Amino acid sequence: MKKQTKAIRTQTKKSQYREHSTPLFLTSSFTFETAEQGKALFEETEEGNIYSRFSNPNVTEFVDKICMLENAEEGIATATGMAAVFASMAALLKSGDHIVACRALFGSAHQIITQILNKWGITHTYVDATATEAEWEAAIQPNTRMVYLETPSNPGLELVDLTMLARLKEKYGFIINVDNCFATPILQNPIDFGADLSVHSATKFMDGQGRVLGGIVVGSKELIAQIRFFARHTGPSMSPFNAWTLSKSIETLELRMERHCSNALKLAEALEQHPEVQSVKYPFLPSHPQYELAKKQMHAGGSIVTIELEGGFERVKAFYDALQIPSLSSNLGDTRTIVTNPNTTTHSKLKPDEKAALGITPGLIRISVGLEAVEDLIEDFSQAATVSAQVLKSAEA
Ligand SMILES: *Cc1c(COP(=O)(O)O)cnc(C)c1O
Repeated sequence: MKKQTKAIRTQTKKSQYREHSTPLFLTSSFTFETAEQGKALFEETEEGNIYSRFSNPNVTEFVDKICMLENAEEGIATATGMAAVFASMAALLKSGDHIVACRALFGSAHQIITQILNKWGITHTYVDATATEAEWEAAIQPNTRMVYLETPSNPGLELVDLTMLARLKEKYGFIINVDNCFATPILQNPIDFGADLSVHSATKFMDGQGRVLGGIVVGSKELIAQIRFFARHTGPSMSPFNAWTLSKSIETLELRMERHCSNALKLAEALEQHPEVQSVKYPFLPSHPQYELAKKQMHAGGSIVTIELEGGFERVKAFYDALQIPSLSSNLGDTRTIVTNPNTTTHSKLKPDEKAALGITPGLIRISVGLEAVEDLIEDFSQAATVSAQVLKSAEA
């Protein structure tokens, strides 16, 4: 069966009420039929639910679907994407270990690595996403235990070559941990390219409608067992309600991603032709410097497009004023198109040299392309580019 069929047909076993749609299991604990069953469940000679911090039917259904989509053996769902990122590091790293990480990271992942793990004697080295194999190799130390990265990166849309990292892993034996949030399991399966773990913020495309927070990490039975021990005892569990919402969202993930990607590509192509848009970046545009790698590693380009507008923050203000459809928000991965100016919002705390290294300029706009009719989006973005350029010219005159 195809994944799309399984994403819809993977479901919690029907109860005595013969319901069609999985009900919400809002229960903190589960009962034992007998004293022996309680003993067996705790000894793990019998599999089953005990307490919702450990497992819950709604959460299990969601995890099963993502494992299936990611070709992973097992997984753990968490309350947020950051809880998944943190659990995947805290469970597997110890004092004295070293992480090699891609420089372009989600802000909170950067804070975990530089402000939290360092307190416990875990050191790090950053490498540019587009660094050569020799440059990645040079960052590896004898105590490197994990390579952590995002591909495509935020907001630079740079790709890391997963096959290249898998080659280095063969030689040095570290864990490859990929934040696969931007691509989703529909567009990219890092485990197929040799990664050990794939982590996601389910808050983004998995929910896809801007409603609930969630996270998940999937990988081999052996690594997930260690993360499960950590999660069971430290408690970053996903709520049954969020799992129920997310599991239903996964039924439409493939369909939504298809439309996100076709809208994004068409909008990127249109804006690339626009005289008042200085540049456009999208992994599936032939003008993207890593277009060939994108085609090899991803099934489609994703929903995120970045554009560069000349005129700095003044231009951004005029552009925002002229836009009719998009929401102004720092979030992404929603049915609604969202625009963000990374320089003044998501990445505003970075130092000038860090911004320069990530290509974050004052006029950079990140577009999370939604599911509106693409004709409307093209028309709105095109007129806003024209109008905002005119506003600046008349201000200068
Ligand atoms: C949003 C995001 C996260 C964090 O997820 P939360 O659910 O907000 O905790 C991590 N990585 C990436 C790439 C994200 O976009």
